Amino acid sequence: MHNIDLDIMELTLDVMKYAIGRITNTHPPLGFPMKEDELLAAVGETITPKGIGGERAFKLFRETLINASVSIDHPRHLAFVPASPTRAAVMFDLVTSASSVHGAFWLEGAGCIFAENQAMKWLVALTGLPAGAFGVFTSGGTAANLSAMVAAREAWRAKDPSKRSTRGLILAAISAHSSVRSMAKVIDADIVSVPTEDKFEAAQLRSALDGLSPGDRERLFAVIATGGTTNAGIIDDLDGIGKICRNEGIWYHVDAAYGGGALASRRARKLFHGIDLADSITIDPHKWLFSPYDCGAVIYRDPELARVAHAQEGSYLDIFSDPGAKGFNPADYQIQLTRRVRGLPLWFSLAMHGTERYEKAINRGIELAQIAGNLVRRSPHTQLVRDPSLSCVLFRRIGWTADNYRDWTYQNHKSGYALVAPTKVRQHAETETVARFCFISPDTTEDDIAGVLETMK
Ligand SMILES: *Cc1c(COP(=O)(O)O)cnc(C)c1O
Repeated sequence: MHNIDLDIMELTLDVMKYAIGRITNTHPPLGFPMKEDELLAAVGETITPKGIGGERAFKLFRETLINASVSIDHPRHLAFVPASPTRAAVMFDLVTSASSVHGAFWLEGAGCIFAENQAMKWLVALTGLPAGAFGVFTSGGTAANLSAMVAAREAWRAKDPSKRSTRGLILAAISAHSSVRSMAKVIDADIVSVPTEDKFEAAQLRSALDGLSPGDRERLFAVIATGGTTNAGIIDDLDGIGKICRNEGIWYHVDAAYGGGALASRRARKLFHGIDLADSITIDPHKWLFSPYDCGAVIYRDPELARVAHAQEGSYLDIFSDPGAKGFNPADYQIQLTRRVRGLPLWFSLAMHGTERYEKAINRGIELAQIAGNLVRRSPHTQLVRDPSLSCVLFRRIGWTADNYRDWTYQNHKSGYALVAPTKVRQHAETETVARFCFISPDTTEDDIAGVLETMK
């Protein structure tokens, strides 16, 4: 299997050719999902005792499978949180795979982890956290949030060993990302929700704290605020909430998985005032820092607390903590052991382009949201639901029902023109289906936005 023969060489060239073509293609096909039975009919069973051969498998991929998958970096993919990895980062993702480096321990991955950490150092500096703060790249925001929550809970229990078997409690707004609730389930913690879909304010935290029973107050180990809600780009009162947490000695986590990239913009950074009060922060480079999937990050004010919570022990792992192998072990700071050096594509792209290019690209995303806001205001059939925030725009097509939005989404997607999806907003106790743009790609143009609005007429 590992002998290099001519077939493999030829196939490697074909695959590289494909990769180069895709990396340099600024308008890849949008892609549309097929049903599973349709895919099976088109592709057949591909896993056989003798194998179907690389040429055939690759042909099936190129001609069928990839076209039934969405190109998330298409400039008119404006749904959910799109992505727009730089060409440099995608290229280096290939290099990262080809290099076969284990990214869990310094002993095995020193050089690559060093590079990853240089990118991390830049990211940490953007947060304004004090010296000593550091972080690690994770598979995404969910894993980062989970890693932070575990570190928070373990630190809380360490302070008072009588809480070793006490079920913990987290306070977060209902606007917090679904992964917060979901990861609370994983660690069997309760969540008390502050009922705001809009900006989570310090006064609301104050009254939520005052409303806790003494027993629940004892169980509270973390408060989570959001630095850019995924739905609307709303940044919570990070400073006010942070000050309360500091005063009360509660672990403060800021989930900036989507919005955190905007810290690289000096103009936008002001909006995150108070993020430096956090004990932990989540930022997804695969969202707004132009990294390929999958790349999240969790940053800790005091990484030692994370190490105590996460470092795994086992006889075959002992060597990794031996002084001879000493260094930063990414495995010690998040939930995963074996990991690819997933910060390496970001490192290469940052090293190649410099941080100013990143700032420019992020400012462009914010600018596109403002441009879209103006187009929505000007067009007689559309209306803003709220002012654009970060790179998110929520707007309504006057007179449309939820079904209209759904049909419109499918129509644009099926035709290969655009993927723009509806969302729901709750205002004044009413839930409304509305349309939403989220801009990441700096290649999206004003014409793209106008074109999409045109399809709503
Ligand atoms: C996307 C997102 C997450 C989840 O991140 P994944 O990378 O999808 O796991 C968590 N929080 C916020 C605010 C997000 O936008």
